[in-house]
This record gives sequence, C-alpha cells and structure tokens, in this order.
Amino acid sequence: RAKEQGKNTYHIYTPSLNVQTYKIFTLERDLRKAIENKELELYYQPMVHAISGDIVGVEALIRWNHPEWGMVSPDEFIPLAEETGLILKLSRWVKEATFYQNKAWQKAGLPAIPISINLSAHRFLHKDILKNVSDFLNESNLDPQYLQFEITETILMENQETVLSILSELKKMGVKIALDDFGTGYSSLAYLKQFKEIIDTIKIDRSFIHDLQDEDTQYILSSIVDLAHHLNMSVVAEGVENQEQLNISRKFKCDIIQGFIFSEAVPADRFETLLKMERLEPIETMSEKTDKT
Ligand code: C2E
Ligand code: MG
Ligand code: MG
Ligand code: MG
Repeated sequence: RAKEQGKNTYHIYTPSLNVQTYKIFTLERDLRKAIENKELELYYQPMVHAISGDIVGVEALIRWNHPEWGMVSPDEFIPLAEETGLILKLSRWVKEATFYQNKAWQKAGLPAIPISINLSAHRFLHKDILKNVSDFLNESNLDPQYLQFEITETILMENQETVLSILSELKKMGVKIALDDFGTGYSSLAYLKQFKEIIDTIKIDRSFIHDLQDEDTQYILSSIVDLAHHLNMSVVAEGVENQEQLNISRKFKCDIIQGFIFSEAVPADRFETLLKMERLEPIETMSEKTDKT
C-alpha cells in the first residue's frame, strides 16, 4: 500500500522511505505555502449548554486541505508548524480569520458568542504574545469577552511562573482563558486553585469522557466538577459522542457539552445554520450523523 501511494504521486519515492516519513516531509515542505494557497480553513464546533441546548460558544479548529493528502489533521501538522517556527504565522492567520468570521456573524444579526482559539505552547511562550494580542484587540475593535484562548495543562505545569504572569496580563485585557485537555497531563487537582482568578473554564479531555461508563471515572469527574465550580470555573465535557455520555455528563453537572452528539466541527456556513436554530438536539446515532453530510 505504501508503495502504491508513493508511486502514484512522487518520483523521489524510494522503498526505504516509508509513507509516514514521506508524508511528514511533504507536509513540512508545503506548510509554508499553505496559507497563500488558501488550503487552510477554519471549522467551527459548537459548545452547547448542557441543559438548554443553546450554543454558548464555539471552538475554531484548523483544517488543511492538502492537494495530495486531502484533509490533514491538525494533530499532524501543528507539531510541524511548531518545529519550523511557522506556528507564529499560522496563529496570526487563525486569529484574523476568527475575527472576520465573528464580525460577519454579528453583522448578519446572529447571536454574539465567544470564539475559542487554541494556543500552542510555542506560540504561548513567545515573548510577543501580549503585545500581539493587545495590538490585535485595539486594531480589530473586537469586544475581548468574545475571545477565549485555550491552553493545555502541560503548558501550565511546565512553566508555572511565566505562564501565570502571561495569563494574568491576558485576563486584564478582558479575554477568557480555558484549560484544554484537562485530565491527560500529570497535573494534580491541587494546582488548580492557583489559577482561580485566571482560568474561566476547564475542558475535560475526550479520552476521559470516553471512559465514563466506568464508575471510578465518574467519581473523578464528579470531584473535578465540584472543585471547578468551587473555584468559579465552568466545565466543558469534550468529545461527548453518545446519549449515555451525555446523560452522565449532565448528571455530574458539566455545564457545557462539546462533541459529535451535537455537532462535529463544520465549515462557517454550516455553523451559521446551527446558530440560527433555537437549540441543538442530540444526534441519535453516529450512523445517522454520517448520513446527514
Ligand atoms: P482540541 O483543542 O482538544 O480540540 C478538540 C478535538 O476533538 C478536535 O479535533 C475535535 O474535532 C475533536 N472532537 C470534538 N468532539 C469530538 C467527539 O465527540 N469525538 C471525537 N472523536 N472527537 C471530537 P481536531 O479538530 O482534529 O483538532 C485536534 C487538535 O489540534 C486540537 O485539540 C488542538 O490541540 C489542535 N488544533 C486545532 N486547531 C488548532 C489551531 O488553530 N491552533 C493550534 N495551535 N492548535 C490547533
Ligand atoms: Mg481546544
Ligand atoms: Mg481538548
Ligand atoms: Mg488537544
């Protein structure tokens, strides 16, 4: 299989080079041009109020439609963007694209909701981040409460002091902060209290939600939610795919649901259609969902 793919597309292919290595090579090579070539696009996934079904936020998720490989997952190319330093350019593009999209929705009279953007560790720890965000807010005239940055707990844990000071400055500008992929790192619950004034939202990682039929996992979820609420943080259950996971997330008082049960990440025009709906209803089965596209 590897051989066929290589043969069809590139002459430099040699049997010693496996497809994955070859793919990484081409992705790295093409990433620089991807923005100019308009191969990057933002998809939007709704965050849904656990009880009412209202859309209360949206996460912007980057997609790369590569001419040779088709849709490439951000998990594959974000690390490459970080290694090559292209992440700065890419982050700027994401920020600007979300901004124009947000404005367009507001112009169209759609309800104003916060847009969440993922910040990679490299981007986050770059010295220009504060000036960059404040310049952006000034130039764009975007109400900062409609902008949320998602950072992972790994960034927090590895650079506590630097991160704490950067985050406090961001908070002063009025933007919101979410802690992404919570429950996957080496974090302890205890450190959360240090970030009481800073983190608005905790996003429980989907690997965790995946195991929710397990009772011990439910106890842990329950403790996380209680603690988060005690610290005035709201909780997003990420990756909720079925009715059982939805029920358990609700039972243990997660505030917001983000997952295929309501919608996957979709292009801007399809997200607009969702925004116009009164409320989102759970999608019954995964096969039904696939049929809809
Ligand atoms: P993330 O920030 O944790 O985003 C959530 C991921 O879970 C998304 O994957 C989303 O499509 C997926 N997801 C949501 N609901 C479900 C579900 O019910 N089931 C399953 N199986 N998956 C679900 P995606 O879009 O592939 O993004 C992967 C990661 O790439 C993101 O994880 C984020 O860390 C990174 N990423 C995406 N866009 C950007 C970006 O613009 N900048 C940066 N720095 N990183 C990004
Ligand atoms: Mg995220
Ligand atoms: Mg996440
Ligand atoms: Mg992630």
